[in-house]
Amino acid sequence: MIRFGPSGNSESFYEQGNKSSVQMPGWLNRMGLNAYEYQCSRGVNIDEAVAGRIGEQAAINDVFLSVHAPYYINLASPEEEKRNNSINYIIDTMKAAKWMGAKRIVVHTGSCGKVDRKWAFNTASAALMEAIRQCDRLGLGDIAICPEVLGKMNQLGNLDEILEMCRLDERLIPTIDFAHLHARGMGCLNTSDDFEGVLNKIEAALGYQRLKHIHIHFSRVEFTAGGEKRHCCYDDVRFGPDFEFLAELLYIKRMEPVIICESRGSMAEDALKLKNIYEKHAARGGIGCEKGFDH
Ligand SMILES: [Zn+2]
Repeated sequence: MIRFGPSGNSESFYEQGNKSSVQMPGWLNRMGLNAYEYQCSRGVNIDEAVAGRIGEQAAINDVFLSVHAPYYINLASPEEEKRNNSINYIIDTMKAAKWMGAKRIVVHTGSCGKVDRKWAFNTASAALMEAIRQCDRLGLGDIAICPEVLGKMNQLGNLDEILEMCRLDERLIPTIDFAHLHARGMGCLNTSDDFEGVLNKIEAALGYQRLKHIHIHFSRVEFTAGGEKRHCCYDDVRFGPDFEFLAELLYIKRMEPVIICESRGSMAEDALKLKNIYEKHAARGGIGCEKGFDH
């Protein structure tokens, strides 16, 4: 099934007196949401007991869990020690995911600001394979690593690089961040064809089954010549991308992605807006869209 939820905890969650992420799955369920991306973006600091309680609540409330790995991971660092540390941060995130019963972790693979892009790609790919080998040895192989399309030009992780990386192991699932794609392409996602081009490219690289279950990050985004500047809330229509076209295509192509909303502050409220847009298109049965589909 298709799932919608926030990245981290909305401001309103705290304003309503909630204090712990253990309360998030129930809070999301009452809102009508069914996914939650737990943030370890500043470090994996969760203990096993708390992670276990989040997992219990997620199971009771039918909330699909993913965990975002630390931002400072750089599998393309020129320094071997930093690459090895990055592999360890991935393993730490995988352990936290295991405690929670999370099925996916999202990873920023690295930077190529100071090194040659091709060298960065090959180095990060080798380090990612090493991370997978170590995770398998530790019994963590049932959790999917989801390398993310990133929004800044000097980051490793344009769409081609992420898809190529995902071909290394069939368990890898791409995190397609449409805000990042839009920012990297200087505002390139404006029509149904623009979005369909992205989905077709994923399918050509990884096949329909992996396309069907991709991990999606969605929000509006402000960008500069260097790429993403900041994620915006969904009502801020000065910025793209708009979810309407993608929602229709997800329905027509019978896709079942996990869609995580990264709006600043109002990520849960905006995840619900995305869900409502999708359901509007589903209720119409895709009528009005001329695109054929063959699945
Ligand atoms: Zn991310």
